[in-house]
Amino acid sequence: MAQTKVKTAADPIGAPRRRVEVTDDMTPFEAATHFFHRSADRLGLANHMREVLASSYRELAVQIPIRMDDGRVTVFRGFRIQHNGARGPYKGGIRFHESADLDEIRALAALMTWKNALIDVPFGGAKGGVQCEPGVMSQGELQRLTRRFTGMISHLIGVNRDIPAPDMGTNAQTMAWMMDEYGKKNGYSPGIVTGKPVELGGSPGREEATGRGVVICARESAKRIGVSFRDARVAIQGFGNVGYWTAALAAEAGAKVVAVSDVGGGTYNPDGLDLDKLILHGAEAVSVAAFPGGAEVSNEDLLELECDILVPAAIHGVINTRNAGDVKAQLVVEAANGPTTPAADEMLHGRGVTVVPDILANSGGVTVSYFEWVQNIQQFRWEIDDVNFQLKKRMTKATTHVFTRAAESGTSLRDAAFDIAVERVADADKLRGFV
Ligand code: NAD
Repeated sequence: MAQTKVKTAADPIGAPRRRVEVTDDMTPFEAATHFFHRSADRLGLANHMREVLASSYRELAVQIPIRMDDGRVTVFRGFRIQHNGARGPYKGGIRFHESADLDEIRALAALMTWKNALIDVPFGGAKGGVQCEPGVMSQGELQRLTRRFTGMISHLIGVNRDIPAPDMGTNAQTMAWMMDEYGKKNGYSPGIVTGKPVELGGSPGREEATGRGVVICARESAKRIGVSFRDARVAIQGFGNVGYWTAALAAEAGAKVVAVSDVGGGTYNPDGLDLDKLILHGAEAVSVAAFPGGAEVSNEDLLELECDILVPAAIHGVINTRNAGDVKAQLVVEAANGPTTPAADEMLHGRGVTVVPDILANSGGVTVSYFEWVQNIQQFRWEIDDVNFQLKKRMTKATTHVFTRAAESGTSLRDAAFDIAVERVADADKLRGFV
């Protein structure tokens, strides 16, 4: 067993105490590390390797003073955390959210390492974040914050070193500002970020890539457990980038999207929602909850609706011990990062519900980010059909691999996915002579 310490705020790289009791109140980093330790146990990982992979390689915390539009100065906190770079440059999004703290960003950085290894793109794992409320900030304030933060982390990032991307609260515009700020000192460097506007070297198909990957993975998984995707009833929590594209592409593939929600609540129609009308409604309304083509449903109740496939596509920890016994779906496809607590994961597995883990289900985004980076380095734009073909090929291959490994080892899909990823990263660390 690795030498572990009690995690404190002063602990710079998050060397984690291994939690024995598995409860809903585990922090995001404890939850992510819990899945890693289970895998390390199964793989018989050496203590020193376990210690390296259970904590971050490098962590940077910065203060970001910004002049707000009203003349006041607000000091924001920002982070860039690099978890492991054995398989390639660090890669992971930048989150602008009020809950973005060291623990959350550490968890997301580690998940990126496992995700990138599982989908087999040549990247390590990283994540960044700024504690702020982007929804109440002006475009000018957001631009000043993004540029200053970029300047403060610019010595850590680089086209062959660490490549940020959008996450919750950031978007293609944020990436355009980051690329411009970085370029002031380093020259034209489109490959410094992915998820850029297509006009600035972004990839066709990147915007919908995560949702497209979720649907590819859901179809493949449904087939393997004997659920017909065509006509399957799908409920989706979250109607942002990932939730919207998952709904649109699932409906295009013949599934019946019976419920969607956003932070204001959800809408449910057992006969299937009219997505075209819902999108028109969404353009004018604050929330999908008031959509006249469905009955209002809370975010909590949505998770327990009668459906075949449940897609949590918003935030972490929503499927927990309070509701895991009431999930009706046979298949849960984790589009969000960390939507199921470890305790709920055990309950779902025990009940025979198939859970497709986040590190597989939502890896379509980083896969097309990889294609974007390749296009930037080659200075050669791919056609959308090439992007979608390559995405489908990789997602299908990874999904098949995870199902096969789970069947061979008699584990859940999550355990199988972690085993494949941890094995690959540990091998790379060994081959490089890092550990
Ligand atoms: P987004 O900001 O575009 O959308 C988030 C959605 O969740 C919105 O509809 C919002 O109203 C809803 N929401 C927020 N808080 C909620 C709450 N408390 N309860 C219910 N709904 C709530 O974000 P996104 O890019 O769609 O990301 C969604 C999830 O997918 C996140 O967990 C993110 O880390 C993960 N993810 C995103 C990508 C990507 O490419 N965008 C890739 C991999 C994983």
